[in-house]
Amino acid sequence: MEQHEQFFNCPHCGQSISVLLDLSVPSQEYIEDCEICCRPIEIRYEVSADGEIVFEERRG
Ligand SMILES: [Zn+2]
Repeated sequence: MEQHEQFFNCPHCGQSISVLLDLSVPSQEYIEDCEICCRPIEIRYEVSADGEIVFEERRG
């Protein structure tokens, strides 16, 4: 399983956190709780044909 650690700032508390993306799934959308403030973050990503990761996070 190919994984990628994506770093971003939590949209709630602003802390730098990371999530592990499972790149065997080319596009996903799910909710993950912030490891600092435990509030829900909507994670969305897409792997383009050339392998570039388009990542987006929002308040869940
Ligand atoms: Zn947070």
